[in-house]
Amino acid sequence: MNSTKSREVIWGGRVSAARVNAEAARKRATEAIREADRAEAHAWSLRMEGFGGPAQPSPTIAQCLNGGYGWLEVKCHRCETKASIPLDAIRRPRSTPIWKLEASLKCRSCRKGRHAPPVHMIRLTEEREITPYVWVHPDEDR
Ligand SMILES: [Zn+2]
Repeated sequence: MNSTKSREVIWGGRVSAARVNAEAARKRATEAIREADRAEAHAWSLRMEGFGGPAQPSPTIAQCLNGGYGWLEVKCHRCETKASIPLDAIRRPRSTPIWKLEASLKCRSCRKGRHAPPVHMIRLTEEREITPYVWVHPDEDR
């Protein structure tokens, strides 16, 4: 047996086992982060729904999406129309905390020019609960 071959016999199995372990550990870490993001988004959503805030601090867009909460439910203060906003369609850096979106959310039917009544963030949901057609997309009038 030449030395390359014997090295392969001696180390090959250990190297590939270690590789498998590393990949499994990374997968667990990714899942742990997803769980943490989910828990944080859920906690924020409960605080908003149950107590009406405070909205700060809040998870980021990325954390909500990673945690499986893709929709932000909002309500217009004036006409009380509700809408579900898809977080993955908002063209903001994914690191933006979601409380920062509140100021740019506007109800289409109540908006007059650049003025619009304030919008209230209600909760995060996993599925679209309400059709968002009456709402101005946060990026539309920048
Ligand atoms: Zn309105």
